[in-house]
Amino acid sequence: MKKTIRDIDVAGKRVLVRVDYNVPINQELKIVDDTRIVATLPTINYLLEHGAKVILCSHLGRPNGQMDTKLSLRPVLARLSKLLEKPISFAEDILDKSTVDLVNKMQNGDILMLENIRFYKQEEENNDAFAKKLAGLADVFVLEAFATAHRKHASTYGVAKYIPAVCGFLVEEELLMFDKVLNKPERPFVAILGGAKISDKLPVIENLIDKVDTILIGGGMAYTFIKAIGGSIGMSIIDNTKVELAKQLLDKAKEKGVKIILPIDNVGAKEFSEDADTKLFSSGFFADDYQGMDIGPKTIRVFKKVIKKARTIVWNGPVGVYEYDKFKKGTNKIAKYVARSKAMSIIGGGDSIAAVQSLGVCKKVTHMSTGGGASLMVLQGKTLPCVEMIEDN
Ligand code: AMP
Repeated sequence: MKKTIRDIDVAGKRVLVRVDYNVPINQELKIVDDTRIVATLPTINYLLEHGAKVILCSHLGRPNGQMDTKLSLRPVLARLSKLLEKPISFAEDILDKSTVDLVNKMQNGDILMLENIRFYKQEEENNDAFAKKLAGLADVFVLEAFATAHRKHASTYGVAKYIPAVCGFLVEEELLMFDKVLNKPERPFVAILGGAKISDKLPVIENLIDKVDTILIGGGMAYTFIKAIGGSIGMSIIDNTKVELAKQLLDKAKEKGVKIILPIDNVGAKEFSEDADTKLFSSGFFADDYQGMDIGPKTIRVFKKVIKKARTIVWNGPVGVYEYDKFKKGTNKIAKYVARSKAMSIIGGGDSIAAVQSLGVCKKVTHMSTGGGASLMVLQGKTLPCVEMIEDN
């Protein structure tokens, strides 16, 4: 396991915490949802209670290396300050000497927030001099931003070359949950995979084939598999470069006794539109001018049965074109069944999480991962580069 803030002495230390305050902000610069800010309170409070000087660093939006007042972290500072009932100072320009002065003035238990780290192009370039300068502000680095842990940026990765790095409580929880599910699952272990980017998902299947009992496949990626077994898919989304690999994975699953269940019926339409006429098609028997938009009712019933019996569930990706009400039924049903199940469940990926949130059943899911790309990388069996930089316990 990796070291966490519990494993080091932080008293009197300057602690640079890379948080993820990439929160939704409206036109009036009001925070629409502060879940990500609230989620960091246990780590911040722990550090404050143990006498650290806390320096917070985050990105917000995509300023592309340019200063953009609409993406300033000032509204986040105001919200955090209110939540902690404590003043927080603000460093406008990370590269300016005034920031070093602010840090030098800090007392134990003080908090300083740095301005949006992505105002500097050096951040995403993982510029070494920039990372060194950032590290120079602190004695210890805490990784608390799981959602960016798969990216080698200066404030997530580069900085850890210069000062000791440990996990915050959020990253610790993410790592523990994935470890439990992937290495000590209760059986049956069921993976539900959907979405459109099959090139991201096939490596997940490759890794999970050695671990799970059943894989339910829906969404756009299903059509590459249906093509691989010789079915006609009409205009459905397909990655022709992956058909052979999909076939190999189906063969491998058979050899290992792992069930891969593809949709048996599909909601088809001619266009992505709320007004589109829909038709049901059995898998492999699509009309030439229709494309698959959602899993059909028979498939929903089959998936429901499997989910009900599961004791461990991992779900990533919508099983239909979730952005349209017309094609979100399958995904919403899956969200409902996963929430209802007694299994330990982990959900990752924006659309799957949105489905669970929209049904108001988040509390019934064991763990909602904060990282889309990062959780996929973990499911692919890879170590996150930023986590690799953290000291082992
Ligand atoms: P991913 O990032 O790979 O998880 O893909 C998410 C996207 O997959 C969402 O934008 C969905 O609209 C899309 N998607 C799901 N099912 C389908 C489908 N049958 N055809 C096209 N796109 C789909």
